[in-house]
Amino acid sequence: MPEVSALDLLRDGPKDDVVVPFKIETADIRGRFVRLGDAVDQVLRIHDYPEPVSRLLGEALTLVAMLGSSLKFDGTFSLQTRSDGPVKMLVADFFTPGILRGYAAYDETAVEKAAGSNENLLGKGHLALTVDQGTETERYQGVVELAGQTIAECAHKYFHQSEQIETSVMLSVAGLFQPTARGAAFESVWRAGGIMIQNLPELGGDPPRPISRREREEMEDQWRRAGLLMQTVSDDELTDPTLKPEDLLYSLFHEDGVRVFTAVPIQSGCRCERERVEHVLRKYDQVELKDMAAEDGGVIRVTCEFCKTVYEFDPADLEQD
Ligand SMILES: [Zn+2]
Repeated sequence: MPEVSALDLLRDGPKDDVVVPFKIETADIRGRFVRLGDAVDQVLRIHDYPEPVSRLLGEALTLVAMLGSSLKFDGTFSLQTRSDGPVKMLVADFFTPGILRGYAAYDETAVEKAAGSNENLLGKGHLALTVDQGTETERYQGVVELAGQTIAECAHKYFHQSEQIETSVMLSVAGLFQPTARGAAFESVWRAGGIMIQNLPELGGDPPRPISRREREEMEDQWRRAGLLMQTVSDDELTDPTLKPEDLLYSLFHEDGVRVFTAVPIQSGCRCERERVEHVLRKYDQVELKDMAAEDGGVIRVTCEFCKTVYEFDPADLEQD
């Protein structure tokens, strides 16, 4: 990973829609900072879900940007929940090098009812994280139980259970009001941010050399300290558009030395294609296709759940494969 010099940091880098990897110099601790503006706003705006649902999906999108941006090969990183709460399903996808998309399925009445109470929106169920790097490596999936957890808590659990890496994650989503171009009115915008640190001791050697009790205690102290420092970040700071990620990281960890690596740019997008929808429809025979079309004035309309693009087909044009 190319390093960024102090001089680079003085220049005005991008403040929004980035993942910034970093390392705490005096410890074997690596981390990632995420700041999303347009990238998360565009996804949440397409759907216009009730606020608590948008917040949950925003957290899921921030987490997949954080974790997906570390993939070494081209591929996808996906988060999916299935549960019995007011929000039945969340899907957030990250495509390398930095595309985000997502959607949610929920029960409107149940979400409204839960809004006034402390009820967990996800309820009981599972959260799956899937890494698919095509032909380079095998598809990998880790599943954790939800049982009334937030997305950040699920991430902790996932890393503890599936990867056995000490990980600490904070996620924040904010609905702000931004002056319009003329400054006379305000429009609501979504922003999101997150920070993660991981304890990754680099002991060297194969097999790794054993360490003394003192070394071990020192490592544990460093990890605890980094976690405490991270916890001092406020939700507002994670999403603040005027606070540069590099400045925030320096203010947190400067005493232990923090090295910042090249930021990964993030944007919203989709991967749906007319050809793929057509390919699926061609599996049906003409009678089935005409039935589908009959409900919609003779035309088959397929809507992408992620980006809401509507694909229209005349059943007569769809010869079975
Ligand atoms: Zn789409």
